[in-house]
Amino acid sequence: MTTSVALDVDRLAKTYRGHGRDVEAVRDLTFRVGRGELVCVVGPSGAGKTTLLRCVAGLLGASGGQIRLDGAPVTGPPAGMAVVFQEYGRSLFPWLTVRKNVELPLKEKGVGRAARAAKVDAALATVGLADSADAHPWQLSGGMQQRVAIARAVAYEPSVLLMDEPFAAVDAQTRADLEDLVRHLWRQLGVTVLFVTHDIDESVYLGQRVLVLSNRPTVILEDVRIDLPDDRHQLETRSSPQFAKLRRQVYEMIQLAKRGHRPELLHTMTEP
Ligand code: ADP
Ligand code: MG
Repeated sequence: MTTSVALDVDRLAKTYRGHGRDVEAVRDLTFRVGRGELVCVVGPSGAGKTTLLRCVAGLLGASGGQIRLDGAPVTGPPAGMAVVFQEYGRSLFPWLTVRKNVELPLKEKGVGRAARAAKVDAALATVGLADSADAHPWQLSGGMQQRVAIARAVAYEPSVLLMDEPFAAVDAQTRADLEDLVRHLWRQLGVTVLFVTHDIDESVYLGQRVLVLSNRPTVILEDVRIDLPDDRHQLETRSSPQFAKLRRQVYEMIQLAKRGHRPELLHTMTEP
């Protein structure tokens, strides 16, 4: 591959220290994401996906190993990174309108008033919320709130976009639209995307690669290259034989993960 490395996760370990009980969430994670790549992460619930993302976002300190973004160690939230969390309810400011919520990071970035307004309008239009700019988050449905969070991330024009099961709370139709939106933005902006999901089909549909995580304490079980054409369509792509084959491959890996398989075991397994 000729692309340069945007994200370098090297032997990442994370143990939560609790009162009397420690939880080893991530044992030894190593992977790289090239600049402009779209990589999905799937794994069983509780595998440490959110932990991984929080470490990459600089919101959580690692217990071991290192994360580098464009060569620099991540020690706090890096500039140029946007994160869309799973729990959209907590990520918007309820006392600010939709417009102000989307505008806030742009203000912090030092974008001028006129440019801010243009970017906010464009982002809200992209997620189909142009008419809700002056509403407050609590007046919107869960799916709409999540689209506000996505608009905010997009308006910021990040170089790296982290998403943690961002569509878990939205209906199927909106979800399909948002998946296509992520693909569209990725191709348009050239942004590096790390997308966490527990949905196998979604990971295959969206990704150029799918990283399958093992059970806790987490390591990478498999790095699956998704050799589907770049032009993806909800109906055609998902009904293609190639999609079915990849879906099956990831599915079987997840089944192994749930049964506690580790990479060491996989490599010593004999052919059936
Ligand atoms: P996932 O996102 O894959 O479902 P998480 O990263 O949320 O997994 O959690 C991984 C493991 O770490 C789980 O066993 C979870 O209970 C534990 N964990 C997550 N956050 C904390 C925390 N703040 N303190 C202690 N344990 C935690
Ligand atoms: Mg999670």
